[in-house]
Amino acid sequence: MNGAVHTQPHDPVRDPWRPAMRAALEEAERAPGTGDVPVGAVVLAPDGSVIGRGRNEREATGDPTGHAEVLAIREAARAVDEWRLTGCTLVVTLEPCTMCAGAIVLSRLDRVVYGAADEKAGAAGSLWDVVRDRRLNHRPEVIEGVLADECAGLLTRFFRAR
Ligand SMILES: [Zn+2]
Repeated sequence: MNGAVHTQPHDPVRDPWRPAMRAALEEAERAPGTGDVPVGAVVLAPDGSVIGRGRNEREATGDPTGHAEVLAIREAARAVDEWRLTGCTLVVTLEPCTMCAGAIVLSRLDRVVYGAADEKAGAAGSLWDVVRDRRLNHRPEVIEGVLADECAGLLTRFFRAR
């Protein structure tokens, strides 16, 4: 057995979320055609099935709230036919901003999983930590850094091409 050099270390916390992050990345990759920053999100039901998808559509729709997370949450809420997404997980390629962190708390999601950190505007641990603020009585679990390099690379390529 050789070739172990290229084997990624086993990560029991992040590995289970990699397939869902790939689905979020697929959503993100659909964004650049509209000039939108490529950020994608999916919402998973408690059984792991995808019940909501979204990508950043701010430019495409002229909607300042058209972030991937908000759109994925709306679609998921329509799918379950209520506003509470208890037991569900939001998976997003970039750390949520304050608006999206607020939407995550309000929708009672159990968990948020993100890829790349956003040091300039992140509200799930970087600049603020809205989702785990102890003053709120609903605090979703946060798992960061899933496929972080791929998620950040997509953004880097987008901004470099502009
Ligand atoms: Zn946002």
